[in-house]
Amino acid sequence: MKSQDIRSKFLNFFEEKKHSIVPSAPMVLKDDPTLMFVNSGMAPFKEYFLGNAQPKNNRISDSQKCLRVSGKHNDLEEVGYDTYHHTLFEMLGNWSFGDYFKKEAIAWAWELLTEVYGIDEEILYVTVFEGSDDADNLPMDTEAYDFWKQYITEDRILKGNKKDNFWEMGEQGPCGPCSEIHVDIRSAEEKAKVSGKDLINKDHPQVVEIWNLVFMQYNRKANGSLENLPDKHIDTGMGFERLCMVLQGVQSNYDTDVFTPLIREIETITKKKYGKLEEVDVAIRVIADHVRAVAFSIADGQLPSNNGAGYVIRRILRRAVRYGFTFLGKKEAFIYRLVDILSKKMGEAFPELKAQKQLIENVIKEEEQSFLRTLDQGLVLLNRIVEETKGDTISGEKAFELYDTYGFPIDLTALILGEKKLKLDEKGFDAELQKQKNRSRAASEMSTDDWTVLFDDEEEEFVGYDTLEAHVKLTRYRKVVSKKDGEMYQLVFNITPFYPEGGGQVGDKGYLEDAHGDVIYILDTKKENNVIIHFAKNLPKHIEETFKAVVDSKQRYRTECNHTATHLLHQALREVLGIHVEQKGSAVHSKYLRFDFSHFSKLTIEELRDVENFVNARISGKLPLIEKRNIPKEEAIADGAISLFGEKYGDTVRAIRFGQSIELCGGTHVKNTADIWHFKIISEGAVAAGIRRIEAITNDAVKDFYFENNRAYFEMKDLLNNAKEPVKALQNLQEENTNLKKQIESLLKDKAKSIKGALKSELQEINGIQFLAKKIDLDAGGIKDVAFELGSQFDNLFLLFGTEQNGKALLSCYISKELVASRALNAGQVVRELGKYIQGGGGGQPFFATAGGKNPDGIDEALKEAKKYVS
Ligand code: ATP
Ligand code: MG
Repeated sequence: MKSQDIRSKFLNFFEEKKHSIVPSAPMVLKDDPTLMFVNSGMAPFKEYFLGNAQPKNNRISDSQKCLRVSGKHNDLEEVGYDTYHHTLFEMLGNWSFGDYFKKEAIAWAWELLTEVYGIDEEILYVTVFEGSDDADNLPMDTEAYDFWKQYITEDRILKGNKKDNFWEMGEQGPCGPCSEIHVDIRSAEEKAKVSGKDLINKDHPQVVEIWNLVFMQYNRKANGSLENLPDKHIDTGMGFERLCMVLQGVQSNYDTDVFTPLIREIETITKKKYGKLEEVDVAIRVIADHVRAVAFSIADGQLPSNNGAGYVIRRILRRAVRYGFTFLGKKEAFIYRLVDILSKKMGEAFPELKAQKQLIENVIKEEEQSFLRTLDQGLVLLNRIVEETKGDTISGEKAFELYDTYGFPIDLTALILGEKKLKLDEKGFDAELQKQKNRSRAASEMSTDDWTVLFDDEEEEFVGYDTLEAHVKLTRYRKVVSKKDGEMYQLVFNITPFYPEGGGQVGDKGYLEDAHGDVIYILDTKKENNVIIHFAKNLPKHIEETFKAVVDSKQRYRTECNHTATHLLHQALREVLGIHVEQKGSAVHSKYLRFDFSHFSKLTIEELRDVENFVNARISGKLPLIEKRNIPKEEAIADGAISLFGEKYGDTVRAIRFGQSIELCGGTHVKNTADIWHFKIISEGAVAAGIRRIEAITNDAVKDFYFENNRAYFEMKDLLNNAKEPVKALQNLQEENTNLKKQIESLLKDKAKSIKGALKSELQEINGIQFLAKKIDLDAGGIKDVAFELGSQFDNLFLLFGTEQNGKALLSCYISKELVASRALNAGQVVRELGKYIQGGGGGQPFFATAGGKNPDGIDEALKEAKKYVS
């Protein structure tokens, strides 16, 4: 059975059981501080389980893109080494939100596997929760046991412990016992030797879990205790690639048609064969797996970057590059070439891959190239470290520096050292790594209390589109303590005018005032899933009273100018550059706006002018805001609204229109474009391959900008003695400056020459060494030139020069290579030791080294000491 058919059979089966089939949610989460990526099928439905939102249908089924590379579920290091864990994988799932429970979930799982897919019962095992005698004191799941008994013989129902059979979303939240379904796909011969029963949950590559049925019936509270959930839910997740392995009769996920096209392509490009040598196979699996994860993330709008989710993606790609570099001998970019076949094979189920193929290729190629450059530099640095090291062990500190500062992977360091017959102080490295981890853990440590609920209310309503003030009641609050912000309170109201950060727009600030005149400042507003959270330093005194909640209208207004201008900018870019322009990120602040978009070359000054003119024409055109709330997404799209990849839209959307600009948007906007007054681009540049960034300002910020520019202009003109043509005057100055520099350079060369002549005559022979220690008046470059030129005439030279420059001291030591070898002299050591006289230090190579210091008075002493090295 082809993988495509396996996927659709699953969805069709649950559709027949009255489930709504929904598309996969984007993999990168935006409104969830506890999770970076969707790591299981249930993550997009968290709000339904927590009771913060209601699904339209209480039965849902889908295939969800999951990524397990960070946090509680992190399989990254396994990937490549085993045959059944991936970074990105599809999880097939069916859900019941307070509807059916264990009986149906078990019956349907059995029916699907054995009847629809025709899997032989003989290879199946199931597990049920055995209960726990720890603090939770949970009973065994006899209910599930009794249901399973109807389908499968009891010798293949195994009891499992809390680790395997009690599923928890995270530290807090819904949880419950689960039943896993395992397959044993070993040969009859193997089975005769060891029973499958003894291999369940033992990391055997052919006895693996394929499906987990979770029975959500508890909620884990912050204090660690469990309470019963008011409604019981079903959450199931089946690994699509593992299911394909079983149904296609192969022994590895990588031998299914999900992966073989990628593997064949890697073989063609690298001219290495899969299935011959283990380390090559690992590398091929790593690359086939990682290219999927990276491509899907980019398609979802998450580009590789230096922090957060982007950094995780960058690390995945780098891991792939590293394996290609080390084990497949690929020193140039090639992973991007796999995107073509990937989008051909998976583009039907995931159209975002097809639509953005070119962008994905460009981004991956650029990332690969830049990391390969890093690897090259790292190799040079590593060689230098090797040269400078005495003995056969490289210190952990040095290796850590290479890893931390230059991004040079530690396993590569170890490998290269091994080839050179050197060792790495692994303990020292681990200690450095641990130190760094402790530092960042301390910085991000946070404790979150349980919510104190004052009264239960319907969903918190946002009224901030229509008003900046409202009378509100506190429904719940909690305290959060972190290193970064200290003690903070998070407040939730029944209704709120405060806009929570989202869609690129910053959260509102403002204050709360009670009837007694007590005021609390709201410092920020954010959304956690569906809940709007207000951040305050203190808890209000009279928590049960009604407050007047007031949004900072000035900040809101400036932000709105920037948000509306962002829409106009988006429209302008598509108009001026073409409709290949797609929004790739946006940040709307009160002071400026930032807009990232796909486009392949730098904007010309004329294009920038056209974009500005386009936006400003719409500002002076006084276009009114036309807002449609809660309309079906299809209606908005039919009107001409653009939907973005990687954005999660509900069934109904809000459409914002100014003239011909129509966007699906939850943000706040000016009532009329005339309010913006003026739009000005202040920078344009690249953020990644094929992604450009524009920063712009509006309204008062533009006035300030012009004023400051004008001021700078007049100051410059003043400095240029009020030249009529200041640009020309500046160019003349620059030219003059270049000429002067040239003259100085040639004068210095002459000086060096005459000094060299004089120095040669001052050489003193001691013990067969031409020796000189002297103070000279040249810059560092000049000294080096003189030393090396003299050096070329002798093979037994020892020079130590001292220089005073700008109140600082410099010692430079040159020793002929022959002396370094025959007399065990080392310039690096000389300057390190003599550095103490000038209160400084330095180093370099055995034949040339320098030390800088802050005490020029010590130069003479240092020069005097130098003789001891040769006598
Ligand atoms: P395992 O013990 O094999 O790592 P798990 O207990 O982590 O599995 P669940 O969290 O229960 O798995 O996820 C449900 C299903 O998703 C599993 O039964 C499996 O088929 C699949 N799955 C889990 N992790 C991965 C992964 N990294 N790659 C591919 N499939 C996976
Ligand atoms: Mg796992």
